[in-house]
Parts: sequence; C-alpha cells; structure tokens
Amino acid sequence: MKIYEDRKIVLLTKHGKESVIKPILENKTGCELVTDSRFDTDRLGSFSREVKRRKSQLETARLKIKKGMRRAKTDMGIASEGSFGLHPIVPIPWNVELVLLYDKRDKFEIYGVHESSDTNFDHKIIRSLEEAFEFAEKAGFPEHYLIIRPENAKSRHIIKDINSFEKLRVAFDLCKKRSKSGNVFIETDMRAYANPTRMKNIEKATQDLLEKLLIFCPVCGAPGFTVKESVKGLPCEICGTPGDMTLKHVLECHRCNHRHEELHPKGKAAQAEYCHHCNP
Ligand SMILES: [Zn+2]
Ligand SMILES: [Zn+2]
Repeated sequence: MKIYEDRKIVLLTKHGKESVIKPILENKTGCELVTDSRFDTDRLGSFSREVKRRKSQLETARLKIKKGMRRAKTDMGIASEGSFGLHPIVPIPWNVELVLLYDKRDKFEIYGVHESSDTNFDHKIIRSLEEAFEFAEKAGFPEHYLIIRPENAKSRHIIKDINSFEKLRVAFDLCKKRSKSGNVFIETDMRAYANPTRMKNIEKATQDLLEKLLIFCPVCGAPGFTVKESVKGLPCEICGTPGDMTLKHVLECHRCNHRHEELHPKGKAAQAEYCHHCNP
C-alpha cells in the first residue's frame, strides 16, 4: 500500500505542468492527481511582467494550493512556482524551482527544490530580423518559445506563443512598425509548456520533493521526516574555531515532534581556507 492510495491531490496549472508532476507523484504515492487548468494562474504573477508577483515563491505556491483545493473540493494540493534572475554571487542566469505539497487533513506541508544555471532566461533590445534570429538560436528556438514587443519591456503590445520562424518574422515586422524608436524587445518565454528546459527543472524539483516525502519518522511512521534546520559551526581543521559551514542537521517529525540530530553531515572539520581565524 502506497502512502496516498486513497487520496486525491489537486494541481492548478494552465501551463501543462502535470506532464512531469503527475507520473512521478502518482507512481510513488498511489494518489490520483487531478488537474485544474481553468483558473488563470497568471493572475498571481506572470514572467512577462503583465502581472507582478506580489508574494514570495512559497507564499504564491500556498495560494495556488488553497485555490485548487477549494475548486476541486480536495483536502490535498500540490503547486509549482519558479523564479528566474541572476545567481546571488556569480552573474549567471539562475532558475529556482519549488514544488510544494500540502495535506490539509494532517496539517502537513513539504517542498522540493531544484536550483540550476540550466536555463535560457534572457532578453534583448534588437533592431533587425537578423538579430531576432540570432537571439532565437541562442534561446533554443523553436522548441523554446519567444515573446516579443515594440520599444521595451514595458510595452503593452505583447506577442506571445511564437514557436516558428514564420511567426517570429511576422511578429518582428509588426513590432518594428509599431515602434517609434525602431527598437524591439525580445525575450525567452518561461512558462512551463513553452520552455522544455524549465519543465525538466520542475521535474527535478518534484523528484526532490518525493525523496524527502518518502522518508518516514522512525517513531510514528509519518512521511516527510526531513531536515527542519541546519546549524552552522563546523570547526576549523587547524585551530578548531567554529565557522560558517554546517555542523549538524536537525530532523523533526511534523506529527509526533520526534527529533533527530545528524552531526557532521558534510565532514568532521572545515578546511582552513574557510576559517576567519586562519585565513581572514
Ligand atoms: Zn513521528
Ligand atoms: Zn582556523
């Protein structure tokens, strides 16, 4: 018997995310995944900036689950929410995918994450069709769709779902004619169905979620017995001063509150090069 054999889990998406989430979730938990594609999830924030996402990634995922459960009359939901930008330290494009599962009956929430530089996330101001084709080639077009508009990122004349060279040519000409400056704004489409690279990252975040979910509490058997907190302070290999690296993981059960500490999950000492004392 799998853990959710008698459960219905709702997924709110109009961007085809069920194609990667459904097989993994149903296969590993025995649940039935129901998809609701009629609600416009872009109302909670869109990548092409027509609607700004007001809440954090996690909060937005929670909101999608809440709406989904209400619409489908289920007591369980799953949601995926992505973000794109630059890596916090190195200036490379960075995609963070989060997949959240909520069980209202057990008041239990767990999420999987996948962070990756594997993304075509990009935009550019161009002036010629040749530049449009250049951008398209770099973006993995036409499998990865493009979005285009006149002038700049703020223009309301947006053309989406460009997935052929003919459509790209027509859209470019239209935007060029509409543009007073002659500039055209081109960007990658980050919606899941329009971006196979992102879809793969959502799949990996779903796998991460399932790996965490299928670890059971040794005391009561509840699923999702996972790291609740990471405590810093791994001592330096030379001087023994506690540093910024992880000293221990604290695992905690959401049902019976059983706690387990995992000392030294990443080695017993930190290299001296990371020590504020030995290598200031
Ligand atoms: Zn427990
Ligand atoms: Zn040291």
